[in-house]
Amino acid sequence: MKNKFNLIATAAAGLEAVVGRELRDLGYECQVENGRVRFSGDISTIIESNLWLRAADRIKIIVGQFPARTFEELFQGVFGLDWENYLPLGCKFPISKAKCVKSKLHNEPSVQAISKKAVVKKLQKHFHRPEGVPLQETGAEFKIEVSILKDVATVMIDTTGSSLFKRGYRVEKGGAPIKENMAAAILLLSNWYPDKPLIDPTCGSGTFCIEAAMMARKIAPGLKRDFAFEDWNWVDKNLVKQARQKAEGAIDKELELDILGSDIDARLIEIANKNALAAGVAEDIQFKQMRLQDLKTEKTNGVILSNPPYGERLLDDDAIAKLYKEMGQTFSSLKTWSIFVLTSDEQFEARFGRLADKKRKLYNGTLKVDLYQFFGQRVKRSN
Ligand code: SAH
Repeated sequence: MKNKFNLIATAAAGLEAVVGRELRDLGYECQVENGRVRFSGDISTIIESNLWLRAADRIKIIVGQFPARTFEELFQGVFGLDWENYLPLGCKFPISKAKCVKSKLHNEPSVQAISKKAVVKKLQKHFHRPEGVPLQETGAEFKIEVSILKDVATVMIDTTGSSLFKRGYRVEKGGAPIKENMAAAILLLSNWYPDKPLIDPTCGSGTFCIEAAMMARKIAPGLKRDFAFEDWNWVDKNLVKQARQKAEGAIDKELELDILGSDIDARLIEIANKNALAAGVAEDIQFKQMRLQDLKTEKTNGVILSNPPYGERLLDDDAIAKLYKEMGQTFSSLKTWSIFVLTSDEQFEARFGRLADKKRKLYNGTLKVDLYQFFGQRVKRSN
């Protein structure tokens, strides 16, 4: 079986550089591309990146890349890859995804079917199985993906399983939760550090606050979930166990945090509390029911993160305009605070009453959104 892998971490558009930074912080060299970051390593790298990356979607192994202008080229290309080094006899190996972009081959179901045939044929040959008899697929699952971009096929195996945004702590969610990896990425893009107060005044199910507390305490985001690679026979269970133990040991239990999440909806505050408890950070966060219009604080140099309702999802346009205006008025006295607001409303700045210092285009699922960034005035703390 393999010991060196070419890998990619996939990420939502706009967040690739954040994932690149996380990988470098973990000690890996990487190249940031559109929608993904390339890196390489061994089994430990696969384990560590799945366990620790906060902003990525998935980690995939690149099995190979080759030109595929015709179905024959696709078949031969897939057949030519060293599947015997990944797929043990008896495993499930669905071609779970095929994507064709700007390529001669564009019929995705056919790409899936041909690729499947090519892998089957390769395994039959390698394991000396008769060609007419289908292979049993009852064991661990290896999801194969084929992506053809400008006539070049990239064939990958997903190592992650359900997407990395699923940390395993979300017991319940509100109407429009932000994905955990998006919340983490925004925190990494913000200028928040664990010694600063943090407020999410529209906290919903508590995602920003929980991700902030986990980040501050160095709780690995994947500690409470499992991954597809854990079922694979060639992944040493001890290595996985050691990585989890190391992650347990890395948790900073001493830190004092000042994190407040509030929301107008009491039901969501209950959910946020449950989620924080499941994530192991309930003691780090104060959740309370409150209108954002009632937010007051004497503290300085803090950070506000907010993912308020957007027209498309929760409120009508007049109500949004009013809410954003009141938000602007409420936050205007917090001169030393930095404010980060994620919304799809292109009139946000006009309604809020202030031009952002910086704007960053992101996608919340398929919805185009902007992260409006307002930096607080720097003052020396009095205490
Ligand atoms: N980021 C959150 C979702 C936020 S959705 C999560 O991950 O779950 C927007 C939230 O704003 C909703 O929970 C809604 O109840 C809240 N909200 C709407 N108007 C509000 C107001 N005036 N004050 C405080 N919260 C408000």
